[in-house]
Amino acid sequence: MIEQNKALAADATSVTNEANALPKAYQPQEVEGKWYRFWEEGGYFKPRPNNARKPFVICMPPPNVTGALHLGHAITATTEDILIRYHRMLGDDTLWVPGEDHAGIATQTVVERLLAKEGTDRHKLGRDAFIERVWEWVHQYKSRIQDQHRRLGASCDWSRERFTLDDGLSKAVREVFTRLYEEGLIYRGERIINWCPQCMSAISDLEVNHVDTQGTLTYVRYPLKPLEGETEPRYISVATTRPETILGDTAIAVSPSDTRYKDIVGRVAVLPIIGRAIPIVADAAVDAAFGTGAVKVTPAHDPTDFEIGVRHNLPRVQVIGFDGIMTAEAGPYAGLDRFEARKQIVEELQRLGVVTKIDEYTVPLGRCDRSDTIIEPLISKQWFVKMTPLATPALGALKYGQLKIVPERFNKTYTDWLENIHDWCISRQLWWGHRIPVWYCDACGEMTVSREDVTACAHCESAAIRQDEDVLDTWFSSALWPFSTLGWPDVSEDLLRFYPTSVLETGYDIIFLWVSRMVMTGIHFLGTVPFDTVYLHGLVRDAKGDRMSKSKGNGIDPLELIDQYGTDALRFTLATSSTPGNDTKLVPERIVGNRNFANKIWNASRFVLLTTAAVGQGVPSITDVQPRTLADRWLLGRMARLTQNVTRLINEFQLGEAGRQINDFFWSDYCDWYVEIAKVQMQGDAEARVATAGILRSVLDQSLRLLHPFMPFVTEEVWHYLYGTSEPNHELWPASALIIAPWPCVNIAAIDDEAESQFGLVQEVITRIRDARNQANVEPARRIPVEMVVGSETATFAAQSPLIEFLARTEKPLLHEALAHKPEQAMSLLAGPIEIYLPLSGLLDIGKEVERLDKEIAHAQQEIARLQGKLGNASFVAKAKPEVVEKEREKLAAQEERIGKLQARRGELGA
Ligand SMILES: [Zn+2]
Repeated sequence: MIEQNKALAADATSVTNEANALPKAYQPQEVEGKWYRFWEEGGYFKPRPNNARKPFVICMPPPNVTGALHLGHAITATTEDILIRYHRMLGDDTLWVPGEDHAGIATQTVVERLLAKEGTDRHKLGRDAFIERVWEWVHQYKSRIQDQHRRLGASCDWSRERFTLDDGLSKAVREVFTRLYEEGLIYRGERIINWCPQCMSAISDLEVNHVDTQGTLTYVRYPLKPLEGETEPRYISVATTRPETILGDTAIAVSPSDTRYKDIVGRVAVLPIIGRAIPIVADAAVDAAFGTGAVKVTPAHDPTDFEIGVRHNLPRVQVIGFDGIMTAEAGPYAGLDRFEARKQIVEELQRLGVVTKIDEYTVPLGRCDRSDTIIEPLISKQWFVKMTPLATPALGALKYGQLKIVPERFNKTYTDWLENIHDWCISRQLWWGHRIPVWYCDACGEMTVSREDVTACAHCESAAIRQDEDVLDTWFSSALWPFSTLGWPDVSEDLLRFYPTSVLETGYDIIFLWVSRMVMTGIHFLGTVPFDTVYLHGLVRDAKGDRMSKSKGNGIDPLELIDQYGTDALRFTLATSSTPGNDTKLVPERIVGNRNFANKIWNASRFVLLTTAAVGQGVPSITDVQPRTLADRWLLGRMARLTQNVTRLINEFQLGEAGRQINDFFWSDYCDWYVEIAKVQMQGDAEARVATAGILRSVLDQSLRLLHPFMPFVTEEVWHYLYGTSEPNHELWPASALIIAPWPCVNIAAIDDEAESQFGLVQEVITRIRDARNQANVEPARRIPVEMVVGSETATFAAQSPLIEFLARTEKPLLHEALAHKPEQAMSLLAGPIEIYLPLSGLLDIGKEVERLDKEIAHAQQEIARLQGKLGNASFVAKAKPEVVEKEREKLAAQEERIGKLQARRGELGA
């Protein structure tokens, strides 16, 4: 890489002497679009083969095509772009695949709402016309998401963009479905599913929000059918939070170990209202400690009861319909809404005298994540994936180190989920999505599962076949993202070159829905984990720490922030506000601060350009600079150390810390210190001027490279001015753009502990003197005398005197190796072992200062007298509120403290 650096530097210096001066102020709006087009049209986002290094690949988590970009996307894009740009500069064969997700339910809902406004619906339109309509809508909105990513500076390869519903990805979905079916890992079965009567679709466990809700627990006693000769009536009590399901009871179950019910297992109870005779069974799933220890069993309306029903061969009576309305099985309640039926049934049970009590009870009510409707557990024929065989290798991948999760604490989340995995219900009652590739034969009743569309039954060749009406869960297609986007199932060039990918970067909230499923499919279909690292970023919250959302009205549109502050400021804020896996608070002041940082870069660069232009010929190339002074050695050492740290931090995904360190270095070491020092050094001879200009430019160049992944626009713009090519020019490609400039290598030899410690002392001395000047209100222009006791550092400080004079506005420092008596009437300061004395007569006009202090002291005395009078007044103390009295006491104490300080200072000054 050193060779590369040299070549680039040589190339660059040849055009540098004609450096154009930068405009006065940085205008992000005028620069960003220009550079993005330059990069994209110039093919800079495309991978460049490098056999010497492993490719670096990220597949962008596909945003929902329905959505507008929000800050969550902005943090995703920023994080990934930092990694991508860094690896591109390292010379890796770097690819970032962009794409969008068809977002089944969300997209269908949006288009259905549009249709409703037009007074029509999807059923009137028919399936094909409806899907055509959705496509139209998608084409319109897909470009919006793309453009928003461009505004963020995302350097993804748009020529490889994918959509989860495009032809290639649809082919991958068919292949996976068919293969899993052939392997017996996909099956169709009746199951209790989470049904949303509003969305009219099955909802996955992960899309159900459980909300603790105040409800009631109703205790109902069911009479037992009398045995022959039994005269005393017997009852068994059950408790339920959903009394409307009583109509669907087909058994009562008790725990096999519950002695209270031993004698009645096997007997028959009679369902109130309906009069259905139902058996009493013993089942281990029953918790004897809950309620009465006996539970009603409604196999059609509860997942646990469904399992009990399977074990005891119980009938399934569905009393609530898919629309949330009571069915014909509900007898007198048929046609009622489920909640109205609940009310009426409780009244009827009370009238019958079988309700023994009603308790308040908190129910973890399931609600649909999308419509917030209360979920109804219902039996339905759905398609499922058997997950255990897929989960086991995915667990192993983490356990045996083929997969790394950053931060590590999410290992447990991942592992717990996979160890307790349930079969995955993959069918959705929608039209928009990958239609399930299964055809049912009306002639022979068999199913045909096929990669290609079929027109005849594979079993009897009948043409009387119907394709399954449902589509696959959207996550089924996104689970294939890392390989389907690279061309799988075809053995494409890209698949061979870029799979497995490198990093999967996403929010920690979709470990289950997405990350774990990609790992499973990757291992199952390609034999390897699809990425070696999962990097999880936090969610973006507002300044108060609340999660941003449209409904709360605290959402912030990233594009508005970009318009106002520029993309770089937003990116840098997002990157440096976050640590892996922790939520990010977006504080507006920080964006302002980072806009100022962009301006700081601009202004420093202007200075460097003017300085190098003034020096003219002979400024050394960036790799040939030689330190001449302590400050030079210090700066180059700090630069080398920074490069080392930033490289390590990015490799460890500590992007925020990396950004903060570059910011500190550039703002403080480079701008606040070295740029000022350079002004002194530039007053030296020609050799000093040439050397200083070289260091200024070299460190600016290297800083721009380190900053580029974080703030691509301002750095690219400045870099081009630095090399006299301020207008985009593809002809000079590939050496003419910062985006592909080599990442700086760490110049270990430049790291200079001695220079850092010596110069650190000089900085401390200057800072102490500056602070003292501020305290004493010395006019900025006034040069003050200074005496210093420097011990063994005499040589250092003698050499650094001009810097102290310039940076601390002092006269030439008077240096002593030691001093027997401390100078009188002097302010004394300490900087490490260095004693600093500032003679007061040099700092201020003592007569005037004494006068000022006397005035202040008199004023404080008046205040004290007034406050003491007030607090000595018994009626004030008695009548005023205690907090008012307390306030006055505090004021008095403050004045007393003030007067003490003033008098001490007055004492220092003497008469
Ligand atoms: Zn058939």
